[in-house]
Amino acid sequence: MKSSREVVLAAVVALACPGLSAQSYDLLLRHGRVTDGTGNPSFFADVAIKDGRIAAIGKIDTTAKAEIDARGLTIAPGFIDVHTHAEDIDELPLAENFVRMGVTTVVLGNCGSSVLRVGEFFRRLEATNISVNVATLIGHGSIRKQAMGGSFARPPAAGEMAKMKDLVEEAMKDGAVGLSTGLIYLPGVYAKTEEIIDLAKVAAQFDGIYASHMRGEGRDIFDSLAEVFRVARKAGIRAEISHIKLSGPVAWGQANKVLARIENARAEGLDITADQYVYTASSTGIAQLLPEEYRDAARLRDVLARPEQKARLIAEMKSSLKSNGRKDYAYAVIASCKYDPSLNGLNIVEAAKRKHGSASIASQVQLILEIESYGGASGVFHGISEEDLRKFLAYPNTMFASDSGVRRYGEGVPHPRGYGNNARVLARYARELKLLRLEEAVRRMTSLPAAAFGQKGRSEVREGNWADLVVFDPEKVQDHATFNDPHRYATGFSYVFVNGVAVVKNDQHTGARPGKTLRH
Ligand SMILES: [Zn+2]
Repeated sequence: MKSSREVVLAAVVALACPGLSAQSYDLLLRHGRVTDGTGNPSFFADVAIKDGRIAAIGKIDTTAKAEIDARGLTIAPGFIDVHTHAEDIDELPLAENFVRMGVTTVVLGNCGSSVLRVGEFFRRLEATNISVNVATLIGHGSIRKQAMGGSFARPPAAGEMAKMKDLVEEAMKDGAVGLSTGLIYLPGVYAKTEEIIDLAKVAAQFDGIYASHMRGEGRDIFDSLAEVFRVARKAGIRAEISHIKLSGPVAWGQANKVLARIENARAEGLDITADQYVYTASSTGIAQLLPEEYRDAARLRDVLARPEQKARLIAEMKSSLKSNGRKDYAYAVIASCKYDPSLNGLNIVEAAKRKHGSASIASQVQLILEIESYGGASGVFHGISEEDLRKFLAYPNTMFASDSGVRRYGEGVPHPRGYGNNARVLARYARELKLLRLEEAVRRMTSLPAAAFGQKGRSEVREGNWADLVVFDPEKVQDHATFNDPHRYATGFSYVFVNGVAVVKNDQHTGARPGKTLRH
């Protein structure tokens, strides 16, 4: 039995140091190596979690309801993926491809395509419960379609412009993080710079960002960069260059020149950042192989029924292939084709051979036109040089983002980035090639994206922040998804926590859905 003096002493200690009372924390991560997200050198510490937040960091001498031995493991903030197309997350709330590569927050609504009613969408997600935190941009293409209907190959009328501004304002008030454009897609392709500036001004009033899938990423990239800078300057808004790349052999080798233009803009006072997926292929609709005025399926069917117009289209496609420095369409791989799923995974040359018994350019073009007039297909385009990729990766204002939706496991042959992007940065570019320190790689996936997209309180391992954390072995973390075999989850993640709850344990999804909607 304790003496009365010991009992009193214990009570005094407990009163004086409330942090020391038994089981004051929900969870303790013991003996980890903390890479805190700022880019500063890592340090050894215990990390305590209580009520979903980081409660203490350091040498912690108390016990908790649960403890995890994190010896040999890195504890970092959960990764923030600012460039996703995860609008389908309410149907696939586990977001397994994301959480299993360490992503705890996704930003939706990129490339001009988003939900129209952000408030309603967030309420739906809150009712569904999801595994990751979700923020969204408002997409210029989506609001343009809404305001202008089907006839959008023209500037908007005054009333339509007012309607678009109202939609941006409503979305920003409901918590959107900014405005996105997709200036190669319908209907964004028809918008003039002034229209984008006027809408970006509305987003800027709410401290939003302008995220741009630019008008061109090939030979025309310098004009496209100038347009983004002009929007940033005139609207007084931060701007993000989405999925930065140099597309096609004729554009390769100019990464230094692109980065110099960005640095000039920053020196002028513009806040320009970029995001990147670390693969040498891009992914978008096979429709992108057609000249833009033929990307509407109804219009295309009409053209194909008129031999003269069809011949003109085919001639145009052949000449653009040549001017892009290509001899055929072998760089374009069919990912998911509604018209004939047996073509999935084949490049256009292989598919033309299978379908028409000929690999001639004429049969390749014929196949592309068939695919497009029967519902289209998504594709993977091998059009980026590794050398350019590494230069963009080494640039301190480039963050890493997947450009992926939530993947349906086993369906189609999608781009591997949706399963591997963050793990590939850590495994290939930080550990194997040593192009980035671990601390810097983590900063580019945490505090850099958080600053650009206005996410406070969850991008650093810091007391008081939400406990979005990844616990992984930097010697073992690995992506496995490839272009031929993309449905492979990343490994090496012992734990991934979202708001203090484990969504991944030893490379398996726990089924937990603790994600929140993040209103800007
Ligand atoms: Zn895009």
